[in-house]
Amino acid sequence: MPKVAFYTLGCKVNQYESAAMAELFEKKGYEIVSFDKQADVYVINTCDVTNESGRKSRQIIRKAIRKNPSAKVAVVGCYAQLEPAEVLSLPGVSVVVGTKDRHQIVELVQEAKNNDGPVVAVGDIMKQRTFEEIAFKGHRQKTRAFLKIQEGCNMFCSYCIIPYARGPIRSRAIDSILTEAESLSKDGFKEIVLTGIHLGLYGYDFKDGKNHLLDVILKISQIEGIERIRLSSIEALELSDELLNGLLKTRSFCHHFHIPLQSGCDTVLRRMNRRYTTDDFRKRIHYIRNIMPNVSITTDIIVGFPGETDEEFSQTQKFIHEMDFSKLHVFPFSPKRGTLAADMPNQIKKSVKTDRTHKLISISQKLEHNFREKFTNTTKKVLFEDKKHDNIYEGLTENYIKVAVKSEGDLHNKIIPVTLSKNMDNHIFGEIKK
Ligand code: SF4
Repeated sequence: MPKVAFYTLGCKVNQYESAAMAELFEKKGYEIVSFDKQADVYVINTCDVTNESGRKSRQIIRKAIRKNPSAKVAVVGCYAQLEPAEVLSLPGVSVVVGTKDRHQIVELVQEAKNNDGPVVAVGDIMKQRTFEEIAFKGHRQKTRAFLKIQEGCNMFCSYCIIPYARGPIRSRAIDSILTEAESLSKDGFKEIVLTGIHLGLYGYDFKDGKNHLLDVILKISQIEGIERIRLSSIEALELSDELLNGLLKTRSFCHHFHIPLQSGCDTVLRRMNRRYTTDDFRKRIHYIRNIMPNVSITTDIIVGFPGETDEEFSQTQKFIHEMDFSKLHVFPFSPKRGTLAADMPNQIKKSVKTDRTHKLISISQKLEHNFREKFTNTTKKVLFEDKKHDNIYEGLTENYIKVAVKSEGDLHNKIIPVTLSKNMDNHIFGEIKK
């Protein structure tokens, strides 16, 4: 049986696509082995969101070639899409596929086996208008499955290369989404995380004016066995009143939104080419909290964006406190070749970015603690993952609080009410409610 090994860099969407490609290889009789094992084929699903991720992608490609010089090495994904010539310049690469045609990965590898030279399948992604169906099993984590429903982005934030790597927005047909969700439910998954590059624009390319994201969520919620539906990330302005109120119609929708803010200062937001002001953002958050009082709102912040002054950074800190997020993901700005921001004047020194990153991480730790504290002495349902140690199981509430309990019985993949009692450093300890 031929063996194939995968290495995936970057985001959850890449992980989903690697899982889908692995399914295609399995169907053709390949055995999937871990990347540190000898394999006949290595697939490296690359990322190029920062210059550093491009460098890491090259490093992994070279590693695969060294591991088995006679193996076929297929390089897929954003770095391959944006820099195919750089990929081809690495001796030993057999197949280069960008962010489309991954559904043909097995055939392209076969073609490379029959060919002398490398096989290149990198097309003009900006002309792509349909969602690429790859396979149906989804990206399965311990107790949650990621389900990709959308591809591409049209927003062109000034720091982001993704619209050039992934092309314009394309939405997956609802029947195909439901088929995958049903298969996940049959295999015992209780929680589905809907994912995409720009999830909030799901259905905008269908041009019939309906709110398709809400349709998708409501239809999945009717599938027996699916008890939780979560969104991976969504932009503030895409959380319309219609969508938010519609979400209240289903108990399976998790009251947790990851809403990227990026900066809490309007002048920085303008330089970032984000399409909202802090006031727009504030109004959305107030609306959400009004109708979902226990909601968890997490966010992304970029620090050290070109020209970010001390005053602008301090406005961001103030706004973060005002929004009372439950967690921050903090990214020091990293210039990406080919984006507007990479060529902006007044790039910020690394030491300043590091200092601002540390400040926000420390704020995030306090916010996380404060959010958990609000739920001490309450009872919440927890979906448990694996046993950690000494009969300690960890899991998540629907509003994304990490909970640990001690249990002799097996709690894996069970949803159980827990009384939350002791707020620890990065989770809350609780007892199963009898
Ligand atoms: S919304 Fe902005 S940051 Fe997000 S993928 Fe699109 S261009 Fe990139």
